[in-house]
Amino acid sequence: MPTEIPSRPDTRVLDGKLWHTLPLETALAQLGLSHGGLTTAEANSRRETFGPNELEEKGGRTVWHILWEQVSSVMIVILLIAGVLALLFKGGGGPPIDAIAIFSIVILFVVQGVMQEYRAQKAIAALKQMSSPTVKVVRDGQVQEMSARDLVPGDLVKLETGSVVPADCRIVESVNLRIQEAALTGESEPIEKFSGVLEGEDLSLGDRKNMGYMGTFASYGRGEALVVETGMRTELGKIASMIQNVKHEETPLQKKLDKLGKTLALIALVVAVVVALTGVYIEGKTWAEVLIIAIAISVAIVPEGLPAVQTFSLAIGAQRMVKRKALIRKLPAVEALGSVTVICSDKTGTLTQNKMTVTELETLDHRVELDTQARQYDIEHGQPELAALVACGGLCCDAVLNPDGETGVGDPTEVALAVAAHRYNLSRIALESVLPRVAEIPFDSGRKLMTTIHKLPEGGALPSTISAMAAGLNGSPYVVFTKGAADNMLAICDRVFSVGQVRPLTDDDRARIHAANSKMASDGIRVLGVGYHGLPDLSEYEQPGKVERELVFLGLVGMIDPARPEAKDAVAKCKTAGIRTIMITGDHPDTARYIAADLGITSHDGRVITGVELEKMSDTDLKKALKDANTNCFARVSPEHKLRIVGALQELGNIVAMTGDGVNDAPALKRADIGVAMGITGTDVSKEAADMVLLDDNFATIVAAIEEGRVVYDNLRRFVMFSISGNIAKVIIVAVSPLIGLAAMLKPIQILFSNLLTDGLLGLGMGMEAAEKNTMQRPPYSPQESIISRVVGRHIAIIGPVIGLLLLVVGYLQWQQLGLPNVLQIKNEAERNALFTDPKVLMWGTLMFTALAMMQVGRAFSSRSFLDPFWKQPLRTNKVLVGMILAVVTLQLFVVYTPGVQTFFSAVSLSGTNLGLCIAFAMVVLTIMELLKALERRNAAAKQPGGKK
Ligand code: ATP
Repeated sequence: MPTEIPSRPDTRVLDGKLWHTLPLETALAQLGLSHGGLTTAEANSRRETFGPNELEEKGGRTVWHILWEQVSSVMIVILLIAGVLALLFKGGGGPPIDAIAIFSIVILFVVQGVMQEYRAQKAIAALKQMSSPTVKVVRDGQVQEMSARDLVPGDLVKLETGSVVPADCRIVESVNLRIQEAALTGESEPIEKFSGVLEGEDLSLGDRKNMGYMGTFASYGRGEALVVETGMRTELGKIASMIQNVKHEETPLQKKLDKLGKTLALIALVVAVVVALTGVYIEGKTWAEVLIIAIAISVAIVPEGLPAVQTFSLAIGAQRMVKRKALIRKLPAVEALGSVTVICSDKTGTLTQNKMTVTELETLDHRVELDTQARQYDIEHGQPELAALVACGGLCCDAVLNPDGETGVGDPTEVALAVAAHRYNLSRIALESVLPRVAEIPFDSGRKLMTTIHKLPEGGALPSTISAMAAGLNGSPYVVFTKGAADNMLAICDRVFSVGQVRPLTDDDRARIHAANSKMASDGIRVLGVGYHGLPDLSEYEQPGKVERELVFLGLVGMIDPARPEAKDAVAKCKTAGIRTIMITGDHPDTARYIAADLGITSHDGRVITGVELEKMSDTDLKKALKDANTNCFARVSPEHKLRIVGALQELGNIVAMTGDGVNDAPALKRADIGVAMGITGTDVSKEAADMVLLDDNFATIVAAIEEGRVVYDNLRRFVMFSISGNIAKVIIVAVSPLIGLAAMLKPIQILFSNLLTDGLLGLGMGMEAAEKNTMQRPPYSPQESIISRVVGRHIAIIGPVIGLLLLVVGYLQWQQLGLPNVLQIKNEAERNALFTDPKVLMWGTLMFTALAMMQVGRAFSSRSFLDPFWKQPLRTNKVLVGMILAVVTLQLFVVYTPGVQTFFSAVSLSGTNLGLCIAFAMVVLTIMELLKALERRNAAAKQPGGKK
């Protein structure tokens, strides 16, 4: 094996030849490959040379991008203008303290913002990495699963339906392999692939049928491929502009918050201008004096902590979700989850356990119920029909049994069939030694059928256990076994195997089989039909319509798939949370109804709409049907139908979460507001199309993620409520205090300290608040609803002014008590300036500054719940907030009592009594907020049906 890796500046190799023009052996040799794939050592060394197989995030944001975004934000621009004005109009001869303060806080703010953003981005990148596809690779002679990032040129990868092509590859083996290349070439039809050589250097990508390209996916069949180019050397890597998923998306909530920030900035500007003009023209102050107040107002109103809290909460939300087994692939999903009104869920595996066990066999002549515990079944002598049914079911199967014969790997439906065959001593391995499989038509949820074709031995003799079936083969060299949804099977059968004979299927037989199928289905049993026939030649096997026809019907196999116990609670939780659950399944309508009713999704007489009915319905009919709250079940649907269902629900104003696992589910997942893919059973394609991946495939996980989404939304609303009402109070005191003869109550630096550190730190703590007890007991927020709606709006409108007035009253009384003069009556600027540096005034200012900080702490406690009293929120549920509260108190005391720092903040040490006064003030504010919540609770109770009016 050559150890030297050929240098490949572009894809031209060997004398300028492109990969698709090389014979397979040459391509393999070129990459130094032996049959067992690369060795781990060789792969590691190539990894060093070629780097990880990933696209550089060209569109991603660097620290500089983030920095620029921060610096150019409206809030920072306002602060910068304020800083420059403070520098230009500084009164007195000392250092420009306000300007220095503003600029240092701008720096702090930007650094904090950049760090938060960067960390959030890293967290999301880590989540993205977790969701990067895994591939099956042959290394050291064994098939291993690994992340697609670890592929190197020379790796042999397995491709199967639904898997993404992880790098640029030369096809080595193709079993009906078709690759959907629309993402790269725009061609919507999947391309059939083969392993031969192609002529023509200038063949377009779409015509290179022996190649697979990164970013495309296998839509049918399976195959093996040799990785020839990885990472940025792939065709996709060359077209860097195609990498759309790395674009920085602003979430609707971020947009809303941005808008809010801008509106506040505008209000600040107007208030500041009005205050400045009144100061100069009515009170006769100088521009320098009023500008300081105007600056204070503008910095007071801007919620500086908001951007940091916002990104932090979303990222924390995504991390919490992953702990609950929901992996977020797109950040906007975190908040959209909070608004979900309908969950459309698959049945098998999501609502049920996907642990199938065969419980019934039914042919025209026999019906047996099987003991699910038994390790061995007997087929009584003279029941060749049962033997044929079980053997054919087991042969038409890809599942591989484990040595215990009781478990297996593969589709659970097929594992169940394989286990049953094994228990009857009719296992696939033994039968295939006589009847080797030569071709197959894979299962797809559109046809709801699967077929395998086997070569009969010379002379056509079948194994003795199923020899009686020979009657249906007409001496053909091949035998076809088909299994699938019982109704679909009946539609393609024209004969039946009964009493050891093959005879035409009569209407009476069909009616009996349909009745047996319905009976089993209405007991919640999943039913599969099985059939076979002889095939004269293999030429047309790739066309299902030509092979899956004129079959001999063998019988029905019934299997149970118990509902997930946790799904029932999750459905009930959804109901109280105002979320509707709709089951969409490929299974029989009666089976679907049984399971849906069992889980509380629909009633026993609830309407089940089938795929056939759906096709006949117009969009208006469908919407009308969906308006009925008892129409929560769709059965025998194909993935394409899901798209219509999502569309109709969305047109009815719903925010829809939709699950899916197959290739064909991708469009519906994209269309849904929250596309949910299955982490265990889902195809790569469905995962790539999804916003969220369920790591445990469990319905209850969707509900948990919705709960976390609501928590994120609540926490942001909480911070907005906290921050804006506090800022309104600050603006009121700064704007009004000079009008009633006091000094401006807060200096710009004090306001900045309060907004950035006090609110910022407390805000981060609030972002960590856990779910309130009623989080899943109230209807979802509509995405159109303003962030300051309902209780938040009322709180801001009431608490902001109330606290502002309270502070003014306390400030006024203190001013009087200290015997300070009415500033309005001092007409001389120098005298006014002298007063403002008077120790008594400094003490008064420090008192107000500290009262404000303590008040914020009191408010943070109370804001932990929108409605419930603060003492009902245990401190241990949000230790971060407790830490932040301690930090805020310490910081405030540090600023007030540390010599040197004091001067910077125009503060003096407060007496114990004054500190007590500040704490008392915080208590009063806390009490007011609690009273307001008590009122809100009363109103909420009165609105409940049956509640007090
Ligand atoms: P979901 O509820 O997730 O849609 P489902 O398994 O009920 O899952 P499909 O996978 O579309 O839905 O299957 C539809 C029908 O096809 C099943 O009811 C069954 O009769 C049949 N079927 C399922 N798996 C196989 C298989 N491997 N081979 C043949 N037929 C199958």
